[in-house]
Parts: sequence; structure tokens; C-alpha cells
Amino acid sequence: MTEPIPHWPGRLVSVSDHGVSDHGVSHHGSGDHEVFVRGAPVPETGAEPALFVHGLEGSSRNWTDLIDLLRSRLACEAMDLPGFGDSPPRPDGRYSIAALAQTVIALLGQHGKPVHLIGNSLGGAVCVKVAATRPDLVKTLTLISPALPDLRPRLDLVRFPVVGLPRLGPRLIRQYQAALPPERRVAAVIATCYSNPGLYPQARFAAEVAELSRRDSLEYAAAALMGSARALTAEFLRKGRHSPWRDAARVTAPTLVIYGQHDRLVDPRAAGRAAHVFRDARIVVLPRTGHVAQMERPDLVAAEIRILLGIPGGFGRLTEERAGKLTPSPFGTKKRSLEQTVSLPPLVEPAAELTVDEVRRYSRHLIIPDVGMTGQKRLKNAKVLVVGAGGLGSPALLYLAAAGVGTLGIVDFDVVDESNLQRQIIHGQSDVGRSKAESARDSIGEINPLVNVVVHDVRLDNDNVMEIFSQYDLIVDGTDNFATRYMVNDACVLLGKPYVWGSIYRFDGQASVFWAEYGPCYRCLYPEPPPPGMVPSCAEGGVLGVLCASIGSIQVNEAIKLLTGIGEPLAGRLMIYDALEMTYRTVKVRKDPECAVCGKNPTITELIDYDAFCGAVSEEAAEAAMGSTISAKDLAAMIDAGDNIFLVDVREPNEYEIVSIPGATLIPKGEFLSGAALEQLPQDKRIVLHCKSGARSAEALAVVKNAGFADAVHVGGGVLAWINQVDPSLPSY
Ligand SMILES: [Zn+2]
Repeated sequence: MTEPIPHWPGRLVSVSDHGVSDHGVSHHGSGDHEVFVRGAPVPETGAEPALFVHGLEGSSRNWTDLIDLLRSRLACEAMDLPGFGDSPPRPDGRYSIAALAQTVIALLGQHGKPVHLIGNSLGGAVCVKVAATRPDLVKTLTLISPALPDLRPRLDLVRFPVVGLPRLGPRLIRQYQAALPPERRVAAVIATCYSNPGLYPQARFAAEVAELSRRDSLEYAAAALMGSARALTAEFLRKGRHSPWRDAARVTAPTLVIYGQHDRLVDPRAAGRAAHVFRDARIVVLPRTGHVAQMERPDLVAAEIRILLGIPGGFGRLTEERAGKLTPSPFGTKKRSLEQTVSLPPLVEPAAELTVDEVRRYSRHLIIPDVGMTGQKRLKNAKVLVVGAGGLGSPALLYLAAAGVGTLGIVDFDVVDESNLQRQIIHGQSDVGRSKAESARDSIGEINPLVNVVVHDVRLDNDNVMEIFSQYDLIVDGTDNFATRYMVNDACVLLGKPYVWGSIYRFDGQASVFWAEYGPCYRCLYPEPPPPGMVPSCAEGGVLGVLCASIGSIQVNEAIKLLTGIGEPLAGRLMIYDALEMTYRTVKVRKDPECAVCGKNPTITELIDYDAFCGAVSEEAAEAAMGSTISAKDLAAMIDAGDNIFLVDVREPNEYEIVSIPGATLIPKGEFLSGAALEQLPQDKRIVLHCKSGARSAEALAVVKNAGFADAVHVGGGVLAWINQVDPSLPSY
């Protein structure tokens, strides 16, 4: 989009929420108040009405580009929520989701017929409340990054809770306004909400700055922001029957839910839960999109809404069609065939025969009709490479070996450590200190001596990955870092090979099959790595040991299906497993035509520098750490000398419990990122930060230095270095 569409004028509409207050919304309406409503020129009489509701800090102006694409068939109006844009606050001054929903209901009540309701973020949560409370007013519901509680709220990313604190909130907002000119604040919002801030139309920037300056002078503007933030925080904490997801489950209207794959505020993994909760829903995760898809990718959002409008019977009908219960409608046959999961041809030709020993050993496979002699012969002929004999690689190798995969390759250069044994079950106590690849080979020999094991006791890198991968039919990726993941993906795409991917963290697992010839690749799903320091590794964040078996066994399951050509592989689908809720969900993953490596015009045609691409720490952190990094021994010397220092441990409380450096004060990294930590730092002492290995403390150091603590330093290597170099009697983890 080159030229933004001008914003349409609007008008103040009087609404009264007297008497609209039943069905679970507050029993006391606030009476008459005014709402600002902006309308696009209506195409023709008979067009169905649609109402658009913006998110936190937004306004009706956020919808202009999307509405322009839809106004040929909808009579579109966008409202400013009370206290936002040009709407005055409600007379009762309430900003709860229920109160905002009451205003929307009052406005909708004037239409006289149900509308297509579209909401973003906070507006999405409000629309869910409206649709659950007054189904008679809502014809279809579209939610863009709705502020429904995440599977795992990432509090360090969500600034709402901090702003929402009663005592802290007003002060932070005043500080924020005083410290940053409106230009910087608008830029910060764009950087937070857009996946690619470069897509923001420059022509709008000046107008947004002027609007923000105007709102700074309104006495209620800060209260509106704070009140809504507080309401959202409260909603995020509600459990059980008060959870906003319960409202979602009550929605009967056909519902389209759009998540942005790069949304920093609402986790797109909530898509799995949305798919489960909404009764009649289509869930879409848009690639390369942030929190405001309607502004960033209005064309894609409009296309999805047109699909929603084009299904008279709702999505349930579509599902029944897929199951063959209905004859297909003329609607979107192309789209459906793209989305349908397909069986793929077997990867491997069958071996000539099975020996008597093999027939005995694999008899439980042979009597499954789908596998049979032919399938087992294919497995015998198969060459599978497992990258990493660690958490995922351990169960994967064991089951691939037991299943009778003829040739198993293992790439791992690491040695077995005691802390591996909690989950890496292919290794045992007597293997501690041995090469993981060799330890794995020995275990496989015990499980199934018929397997030919090939050990690659090397660090997989650009110089060897193509040569090693080319010897195998299929790759199983069990790596735990982003640089290797992208290298595995690119090498597989370049070689035209499929691979089975898995990832684990704490109680969450994901798996998929990436095969660029038939579907998306890892870059289609995750075009870019997360910002350095944003996603903790399992070494930093921990992982439930048995989760490795859950995800590793899914990877083997998919490998066997691909090798033998049975079932529907996970290609084009992302499997999401939540061990705490015990839910498995799959979401569709589309091939991205613009994908850098498997798209129509690929920019990556050979391997790249993956360490640089993924970055060990952010540029800011690296800059801050330059010349301000001390060793663990330096720290010990400072403590011994009685230097005037304030030692801060920026890890999480449970890590602090396992082991800590004597005298360290615990202030987790998130509190630095939110700014809350700064007031706890003494002005008259030198600040020394540390974490587990030095990455998180470097991020915190950047914040501390920016706040004026020029002589602050962090400890390179963190508490692990302290244990190694200063006090080996402490437990390591
Ligand atoms: Zn791709």
C-alpha cells in the first residue's frame, strides 16, 4: 500500500445504556452518553452494517485502509471507545471490558438489525463480550489479535500490567510523557505493534503525532489508557468461569480469528486455544504480521473477511464439506485444496526382502495393514539423520532404531553431562563425559543391532551440512538453538529434502514437517528469529524432561509416515502441545509465496551466516557490554576488597533458589525491561549485574546504562562462570 486512504469524517452519536444491562453485563447503565462514530460512504442501500472497534491506545482511524477494501459490500462504521479518539469518557468513568461492551451494545441497539462486528486487541475482547451477551446483535464476529488471555502471558513483553498498577501507573505515564516527545512515542507504538515498522505509511506519521499531542492535553486521556490497561490486566488474571475464554465459548456467531505471527503483545500460539474454544470459527495466523494486521496487511485481512461473509452456513458447513457430508459449494475450491492436508508418496523404495529375524522382530508392524511387509521394507531401506542426540534426539533415535530404520545417522559433537540425564534417555550414568554420538550409537546397538549407525561427531556447520544431509532421505531436527534451526531448514530446502522439526520449552512443545516441495518451510512459519535475548533457551528456562518424549515420539511418528507414505503428514500444519492443559492442537501453516528461501523469488540461494542472522545478544546489549564486562574472578576480587558495589542477579526466582552468588539482590530481567527495577538501584554504589551465562545481564545492562548508571558492569559467563572459576562447590544447572 503506497498511499494511505484519508480518514472519513465522523459524528457524535448519543447512546443510552439504560435497559441494556442484563445478561451478565453490569446491572447499572451509565445513562446517556456520546460516542464518536466514523463512517465510510455507504455503497448502496441494502449493504449490511459492520462496526469496527479499535484496540488500546487506538481509535476509529485505525480501520480506514481495511474499510476501504470492504466498503463495496458492507456499510462500515468505526467507533471510538469511550475515552479514546474523539469519544468522551463514560459518565461513570468505567473502562472495564463489560462497561465498554455496554456502550457498544447501546450503539448497536440503534441499528435495529445484527451487524458484522470486527475488533482488534482490546476491541477484540470487547466484541467477544458483546457477542456472548447479545447474540441477537451480532451476525458475524472478526477478531484481530484479540486480547484474550495467552497460553503463557509473556509479562516482560506486555507493558499493560505495569501501567495498570494503581500507584505506579499514573507516575509512569507522566514520566513517560515528560521523558519522550510525541514523535518518539508514536514511533515506539509502531515499533511494538508492527512486524515491519517500515510498512507504516509515512504520510500518516505527522497526523498521529498531532493527535497524540492533542490527547496529552486532555485530562481524561491518561485515565482512559490506564483504566483500560487495568481492565485488560484484570481480564488476563480471571480463571475458570470468569475467564474471558468462557465468554468466547458462548459466542454462536461465525467467528474469524486472525493472529499475527510476529505479534509481540498477543501470542499467536493462542490460535490453538481459539480453535478449540470458539464454536464456529476459522483461525488464521498471518505470516510477517504484528499486532495490528488491519493496518499492516489490510489486503490479507479483507480477503479473510470476504471468505467469512461468503459462507451462509458458517464455518461448520465448511468442516462438514471437508468430511464429505455435504456436496462442495462453489465457494473457494482453490483455497480448500490448498488447505487440505495431503498424503505424500513414500520417500523410500522397499528393500528386496526381510530376513527371518526381521520378520520376527517387526511382526507387530507387519500385521498392521497400512505398514505391512512393504512398509517395513521401506523402513529397512531408509536413511534417516537425527541432528542432535539431546532432548528430542534421544527418544527419536531410540524409536527410529526400534522401528527398523535401516540406516541412522547421528550428528552431535557434544559430550554427555550429568544435567543431560534428566531427559536425554539414550545416555546413562556411565556415559557421562563420553561423546554423545558414540554413547547414542552404543544404546542403539543394544535396542536393535540390525541398524547401521553412522556417527558424525562434528559440529554441524556451513562447511559440512550439505554434504552430510545429502546422504540421507529424511532429516529429524532435534536442535535447541535458532542458528542451527535456520541452517537445517535452508540446507533441506536447498537440497529438496523433507525434515521433521520439533521444539520444546518448559511445558510447551511444537512439531511440524517442513518440505518446501509440498508445503511451507520453517522460514514460512518463522521468517526471522526472535530478537536475541527474547526467547530463553531450555538451559535458561528449563524443560520438563518427559516433554522430550512427547515431542520426540511425534517426530518419529511423522518420520515413519513420510518414509512409508501412509497417513496425513504434518506438512502445512503446526502441532502445538500444552503439557499442563494436556491439549494437542494443530494450526494451518501456509507456504509464504514471499518466503526468503522457498518463495517465488528467493533471496537466500545458498547458506548464510546463521550466527550473525540470529545474533547472540541484541546490538544494544552487545554495545552496552563492550568494555563493561568483568570476569567472575574480578567480581570475587571486588567483593574481597570490600568495594562499594550493588550486585544484582537478573535471573528468575527459581533459578536464584538453585544457586546464587552471596550478597546478590534478585531483580529479574523483566523488571529492567519494564523500567520498574531502576528505582531499586542505589545511586551511590557501582551496579554489577549477572545472570546464568551473561546474555540476560547484558540486556539489563543496556537499560541500566541508558538510565545514567555509566559505570555499571555485568559479569561475563554469569553464575556458571562463578561456579567454575570461584566456587566449584556450588551446584550447577
Ligand atoms: Zn519457506
